[in-house]
Amino acid sequence: MLKGKGVSIGISFGKVVVLKNQKREIEKKNVDNPEQELEKFKQAFNAVINETEDIIKDLNGTELDIMQAYLMIMQDPSLISETENLIKNLNYNAEYAVEEGFNSVIQIFETMEDQYMAARSRDIADIKNRILAKLFNEETVNISKLHPDTIIVATELTTSDTAKLDFKNVSGIITEIGGTNSHTSIMARTHLIPAITKVEEATKILKNGDYIAIDGSLGEIYLNPTEEEKEKLLKLKEQILHEQEELEKYKGTETKTKDGYKVELVANIGTPSDVEIVQKNTAEGIGLLRSEFLYMDSENMPSEEEQFNSYKEVAEKMQGKQVIIRTLDIGGDKELKYLKLEKEANPFLGYRAIRLCLDNLNIFKTQLRALLKASNYGNIAIMFPMISSIEELRDAKKILEECKKELDNENIPYKKDIKVGIMIEIPSAALVAQGLAQECDFFSIGTNDLIQYTVAVERGNEKISKLYTKYHPAVIKLVKESIEGAHDAGIFCGMCGEAASDELYIPLLIGLGLDEFSMNANNILKSRKIISNLEKDECIELAKEVLRLTSAEDVEKVLKDFVERK
Ligand code: PEP
Ligand code: MG
Repeated sequence: MLKGKGVSIGISFGKVVVLKNQKREIEKKNVDNPEQELEKFKQAFNAVINETEDIIKDLNGTELDIMQAYLMIMQDPSLISETENLIKNLNYNAEYAVEEGFNSVIQIFETMEDQYMAARSRDIADIKNRILAKLFNEETVNISKLHPDTIIVATELTTSDTAKLDFKNVSGIITEIGGTNSHTSIMARTHLIPAITKVEEATKILKNGDYIAIDGSLGEIYLNPTEEEKEKLLKLKEQILHEQEELEKYKGTETKTKDGYKVELVANIGTPSDVEIVQKNTAEGIGLLRSEFLYMDSENMPSEEEQFNSYKEVAEKMQGKQVIIRTLDIGGDKELKYLKLEKEANPFLGYRAIRLCLDNLNIFKTQLRALLKASNYGNIAIMFPMISSIEELRDAKKILEECKKELDNENIPYKKDIKVGIMIEIPSAALVAQGLAQECDFFSIGTNDLIQYTVAVERGNEKISKLYTKYHPAVIKLVKESIEGAHDAGIFCGMCGEAASDELYIPLLIGLGLDEFSMNANNILKSRKIISNLEKDECIELAKEVLRLTSAEDVEKVLKDFVERK
């Protein structure tokens, strides 16, 4: 049995697909025998067509329509004419000709007025990538189209890989590197996919097609499980299902403590399709839409129209419930390949999120205009990430005002009194919370980052993960400052970091007066149950006791004792 660290609970069985990270260097060469290069290119191209036809056989509905359109692009002779010319006329090697030839087609599509056609440039980039993979003899997997019950095994899944994953067919994720709070782990939990990280040499030990079983709580991997092991795991699976069924009675009920103190229980999402999980779990709204996933799921900057459609879809589906959309929070562990940002020594402390947006007004304004336009179709609020000072908030609001004026001039409707809030995820923001609260409509505490910046421990770094703790008294003090700052100014304070759904932390947060808990939608019912068993006064006493403590260990112990006594 292989072992790693379980980061998303659940039991699953399936066949392994190994993803290998590929780095290609495409050299430009002049060949003596262009006919041979042309043949090489055609073979690679035809192989990609055949694979696509194979995938299509298993599809139906919208997915079938999408893939048929994709195939039609491949069957259009103009797609490859430039590549063929480069080989025939300039004697280029097949690899370089594909890179150049396809890029010129991609450029033509990207600049098309018709949004649908412009978006096809991404399909062409994908086709190019698949042909190159064949030419380089790489084993590739189209992670957007997988066979049912696939267990992905990778060195590391980048956040953008995860954004593209064909979730309905993935039954497990195993990686060699990654932490509990990496975005990949968060996404796995959102989709209820058992996931295990820190499995040494997983990509060497496990082979494509291996049949395995995994336990995402204990981090255990069984290669060719025996009948006995299968039986044990199936029993566990049933138990997990049973616990989930127990929670059904909390569906659609109000979120309040035993003594009637009401809080908002809302969800974190990444894409419009996540709304389904939100509704299934009866969240009372969306406390965080991480808009960067829209950008990461794309080969180039999503246009104003694409963004507008996406935000509008979420707002409409949520039928008047509040949807807090966070502006682009790229950088750190979230990369946008097409932005081609310079490598930095300390990306988490670098050019990212609001800093990048305020420095690239075309990107920022495109998103703000899309958000304002979509606000006409539901209850959208805008949230700025990584605010570290009041100047940044003022600058961001100034740009928002400029966008409002532009829309006024163009006679485009939007919600005039759209709410504007900020993430509190940097200690400096928590410490000036009082001032910040005077100039915005709400706070949402991002503990995932707040912890890393408070204790100086990178959130995904497993080597020092023991030090990354929400129980550190300094973190708790900053949470308290933020909530009090908000309340003094009469605005609400939420939390959208992972700590908001932590069984031990919830009573403390109720005691500190947190108004809104935003979390992975799959934790909504469990958290509603926890809150309904608490009394406000006992939580206030608990918070007072915790605030007197000076060590994280003691805090954790006091919180554990409290929960065990319940
Ligand atoms: C956070 O930092 O707590 C947060 C919610 O944002 P993200 O995890 O996307 O950085
Ligand atoms: Mg954050």
